[in-house]
Amino acid sequence: MSLLTTWFSNKESAEKTSRPILSEILKTMRESVIVVGEDTRILASNAAAYNTFGRRNGALEDKRLSEVVRDLTLHEAFRKALKEDESSDIELEIPGVERRKYDVHIAPIEFDKTKGAIGIFYDITQIERLERVRQEFLSNVSHELRTPLTSILAFVETLEDGAINDEENNQRFLGVIRKNAQRMHHLIDDILELSFIESGGITLNPKSVNLHSLTEEVFTNLSGKAKEFRIKLKNEVPKETFVFADSVRLDQMLTNLVDNAVKFNTKTGSVTVGFAQNGEKNIISVADTGEGISAEHLQRIFERFYRTDRARSREIGGTGLGLAIVKHLARLHGGEVSVNSVLGKGSTFSIELPQE
Ligand code: ADP
Repeated sequence: MSLLTTWFSNKESAEKTSRPILSEILKTMRESVIVVGEDTRILASNAAAYNTFGRRNGALEDKRLSEVVRDLTLHEAFRKALKEDESSDIELEIPGVERRKYDVHIAPIEFDKTKGAIGIFYDITQIERLERVRQEFLSNVSHELRTPLTSILAFVETLEDGAINDEENNQRFLGVIRKNAQRMHHLIDDILELSFIESGGITLNPKSVNLHSLTEEVFTNLSGKAKEFRIKLKNEVPKETFVFADSVRLDQMLTNLVDNAVKFNTKTGSVTVGFAQNGEKNIISVADTGEGISAEHLQRIFERFYRTDRARSREIGGTGLGLAIVKHLARLHGGEVSVNSVLGKGSTFSIELPQE
């Protein structure tokens, strides 16, 4: 308060005090600030502006705005502020590898009886990306739900139109309705699970876990499916192997990976769970003898809803969310998940976990 009182009581000393304060404020601002004079040469800028526009161009002061940013709308907005005394808000996109997008507020200012204009650049790249991810997610969810729902409605109508008395087919139609309803159920469970994990809703309870025994449990739970697909499950984790993890979540990660390795395998293939150490890391691997994943898909399979063959994944009961869940859980453990794959030979997914 005393600082502010001095500030307002004596204009001259107030200016002396406020200048360094303002300069400090500008330095710490995340937004880029550029002030130009009437000839559009840059008179002042802050550190953020230098980081954004100066790295390629060197110091900004004394340069023309057009030398630093080439964008017609931005120049027009500065011209309007200088010549017509009008403020404006525009969107600016800086192309390149690190494409960035800004919301820019441009306003006329006057200092020491000289006219100028100030531009404040809010970086909205991240907000835009999140908005895009949210929209994509919503449209994916709607699409994924619509397919089974359409099928349910079609079969209900068929039954209503008389098929209910068709002894030969009515049970089959009901079966299709049940399968699609289960799919929707499964999908909603996975969406809720993923959003719970992503929102930081779960707390891990990491302990020393016997990996050999856990793998046995996972195999037991998936033995029905393995039999159905005629896949051999091999536990190559040495008996007294311990890893540091939340056992429920590790079980969930392994189950998802082994389930995929069974589903995307070739008939009479095998799935092997193994263990290795690399420096400070424990590495749990799930290898299959399946169809493999081509390089174009490899980068993207951990994304939500990404599937190399949508129709096939649906047919075998996939939601496209399993690997996204594994990725998030591995990261929550301070680890990572990765994949190596050879087309026609098989894939190996590896969960890397830090040691205790
Ligand atoms: P889904 O429910 O479809 O299994 P996931 O997120 O678990 O969803 O997997 C995403 C996609 O990655 C799968 O649809 C499949 O195309 C591919 N994929 C996952 N695991 C394997 C694997 N072991 N072999 C070949 N492709 C796989």
